[in-house]
Amino acid sequence: MQYQIITVGSELTLGLSINTNAPFISKRLGQEGFTCSRHISVPDDIRSIARSITESLGQGDGVIVTGGLGPTVDDVTREAICESAGCQLEYQPWLARVIEERYGKRSVPLPQITYRQAYLPTGAKAIIPTIGSAPGIILERDDKFIISLPGVPREMGSMLEYDIVPWLRSKFQRDEAYKVRVLRTTAKSEASLQEAVGDIVDSLHNISVGILAFPGEIQLQLLAKGPDERIVDQIIKEAELQFLDRLGNIIFGFDEQTIEEVVGRLLRKNELTLSLAESCTGGLTAKKITDIQGSSDYFFGGVISYNNDAKRSLLNVSNQTLLRHGAVSAATALAMAFGVREKFGSDIGLGITGIAGPTGGTPDKPIGLVYIGLSHQTTSYSNRYVFFGSRDIVRLKSSHAALDMLRYYILDNFEQVGGDVS
Ligand code: ATP
Ligand code: MG
Repeated sequence: MQYQIITVGSELTLGLSINTNAPFISKRLGQEGFTCSRHISVPDDIRSIARSITESLGQGDGVIVTGGLGPTVDDVTREAICESAGCQLEYQPWLARVIEERYGKRSVPLPQITYRQAYLPTGAKAIIPTIGSAPGIILERDDKFIISLPGVPREMGSMLEYDIVPWLRSKFQRDEAYKVRVLRTTAKSEASLQEAVGDIVDSLHNISVGILAFPGEIQLQLLAKGPDERIVDQIIKEAELQFLDRLGNIIFGFDEQTIEEVVGRLLRKNELTLSLAESCTGGLTAKKITDIQGSSDYFFGGVISYNNDAKRSLLNVSNQTLLRHGAVSAATALAMAFGVREKFGSDIGLGITGIAGPTGGTPDKPIGLVYIGLSHQTTSYSNRYVFFGSRDIVRLKSSHAALDMLRYYILDNFEQVGGDVS
């Protein structure tokens, strides 16, 4: 079954809201083996919506529309469905009672305009909302379907899961099984990853590979298709082994796994504790670490030592270090890492200092220059990075690099070579 998605809302086409509904639906229905062939966004305008519905129906088995089902006059998806399908809107007293009951539960007076939601195109089936008040619509015409869902993501998601997925399953055979596997890497760039695995990608069958860049990470996205789930799992597994073999520890995680999750597990497994001294990242790394439930078992705490006084007084970074090498230097990053480890009594200390921009760079020390120091027992070393991007991106990349540096340190010193990074 092939379908298209039309997201309705002038806020989407004006660029005021991000369209999250279309990718959400594509992904969920993709897992069911249904293929979305196009995403379209249109403003709250009957003509535009109707034209898109007609066009989409001409190109597939059906269309899923989100948005424009509310009670206000700018919500015109019902009218557009009628225009496209050549039918009328009919008042459904029973649906009006359902809507009244839903409002009754909230014990607020029912605004008159709400009754617009009690109209259905001739022959359509209503989907009763469990969240919100807008009923969804399923209309079947000449072996094609028009499904209309609310725009509010939570309301849409609930109807998709509990009404639309079961309805589609009962109507259509799944095209084929389909699986996506994401290998998350700390490769330097998309190009370097492409170069490292290009020959493997070329040799693979029944699988397509995408290389995508995100701040601080490059992902390999594997998409396999086949006649059934077992075969698709096998295809993915075989490809994954080849990539693991080639890339080793550059792969830090899989699918939804974040680097902070992986680092947390490594710290816990090796009974290591951590503290952080952050300057340019302003606590972002500590935030990431503490996003993981139970992180107090291995994370003692952090210091945001943003100015030199804080570096001196809270972390015992010496005046001499700051004067001779500067706040953004390997020596300061190391002193911060050592100082915070002493302060908290943790096994490992990390110090992050850099120039996040957009001002403050010099020819010697450009914007994006970041030093990260690591201190553990008698070992200490620092890494130097120059990141490109906005202030936010530099901070994000710095945090990611600090976590990755820690990950490598633990892998190299506590785990078997090529050990399990999953
Ligand atoms: P309903 O059909 O439930 O009345 P609507 O789209 O007509 O929804 P709006 O007021 O336009 O009602 O949208 C409700 C909220 O849902 C808004 O915050 C809007 O930005 C959001 N929304 C609508 N469509 C999408 C979408 N495709 N992706 C993400 N958010 C969306
Ligand atoms: Mg809308």
